[in-house]
Parts: sequence; structure tokens; C-alpha cells
Amino acid sequence: MAQKLDDTKLLFRAVIMGPPGSGKGTISERIARGFGLQHLSSGDFLRENIASNTEAGVLAKTYIEKGLLVPDHVMTRLLLPRLEEMTCHSWLLDGFPRTLAQAEALNSSCELDLVISLNIPLETLKERLSHRWIHQASGRVYNMCFNPPRVQGVDDITGEPLIQQDDDKPEALVARLRHYKDVAKPVIDVYKAKGILHTFSDTDTDRIWPYISSLLSAKIPTDIADAQRASTH
Ligand code: AMP
Repeated sequence: MAQKLDDTKLLFRAVIMGPPGSGKGTISERIARGFGLQHLSSGDFLRENIASNTEAGVLAKTYIEKGLLVPDHVMTRLLLPRLEEMTCHSWLLDGFPRTLAQAEALNSSCELDLVISLNIPLETLKERLSHRWIHQASGRVYNMCFNPPRVQGVDDITGEPLIQQDDDKPEALVARLRHYKDVAKPVIDVYKAKGILHTFSDTDTDRIWPYISSLLSAKIPTDIADAQRASTH
């Protein structure tokens, strides 16, 4: 059940998990827009820290550039205080927790209502990621097949060039997706055991979305979703 803050306000805390290319970013945006949850992305948060040259940002950059996960103690030190500032908000956490240690740290700091896991076939992920180009500074992602930039090879907002990350190139992809699965499995098992895990599988984000939307409609009463939307705009 959503945690009760006072008579008029309910808080709803959700996590979304899924491998790179699973449509997690798109679904998170739709949830944030449709249900008024604050979208907290660990990747965006790291990029903000890198851009403003914080100590954690400088450290995180060395890992991200090598295609590695940022160590758990750095992530929890960054993310948990941010969540503590959000005690009056409902949120959707995207990209955290990625490891069992992060899930345990999150468990001890707050109670989750729901975990959405996107279980997308490997062939679909490979197909999507091999067409994926990003604007490195902002993390904006384009797909040359179904979400291309307005001008080929160039970011829509800044006009800067797009790059294909080394680990989105075909030779690195399968190893990367396997590694994601190995690390995510124990996290998924924890949430399954808690009875808050909902898994969605399909090759098409637009076919998954109605199921997620009706699940959230059932879990978040409309008047609360409206109040949250009003408070986040
Ligand atoms: P994303 O935008 O979620 O793909 O994140 C970009 C990069 O940030 C990842 O490839 C990781 O190197 C790092 N990162 C994001 N979230 C986490 C996390 N929870 N734990 C460790 N590293 C992370």
C-alpha cells in the first residue's frame, strides 16, 4: 500500500528496472507525465554531477567512460540523500538499484510500493541498441529506425554531433546484456520475494504501455495522481 503521510496526501514510490534498450526511458517519461511521479534517473543524476564537476561526478566519470558500473558506495552516497529530500513527493526511480548492495541500501532507507521490470527478448535489445546513437553530454538517446534526430548525426537541442557508444556496437552488446542480467537477477529476486515485482515482456513498448498504465491506475487513485501532477508542474 502507498505510504500515508497525512489525511490528504499519499506517497507512491516505484522503481523501474530493465536492460539498456528495454524502453525504460520512454516508459518512465510516460509514467511521470501520466501519473505525476517525479522521475529520478540515476544516469541523469550522474551526468548532472559530472557537468558540475562535483567530487562524486569526477569519480563517477572514470567508471562511466570505461563502460563500468559506478561503485555501490559512490552511488548510495549520491542517491540516498537525494531521496531523503523527497519525503513529500511520489517518485519513480530509474537506473537504481542496479546491484544487490544498492537494493539493500534502498530497502533500509524507504519502503517501495511497486517495482516494474521490463523483460525484453535479447534479439529485440540487440536490434534496438545497434541503431542507438547518443548525445554524450546530455545522455539524450536516438534510434535511427524509430526515433531519429531531425538532422542525421546531430542532436536536436544542441546541434552537437551524436556518437555511437563502444558498448552499443554489436561486438560488445551481448556481453554487456549478459552482465546486466547477472547483476540484476538477485535484485529482481528480492522484489519478487517481497511481492512487489511486476514483469512486462514484449518486443514493442507501445504494447507494454497499456498494461503498465492500467496497473498504475489501479494502484494510484486518480485524485492523488491529479494532485501530484499539479504539484510537479
Ligand atoms: P544510464 O543513463 O542509466 O544508462 O547510466 C549511464 C551510466 O551511469 C551507466 O552505464 C553506469 O556506468 C552509470 N550508472 C547509472 N546508474 C548506476 C547505478 N545505479 N549503479 C552503478 N552505475 C550506474
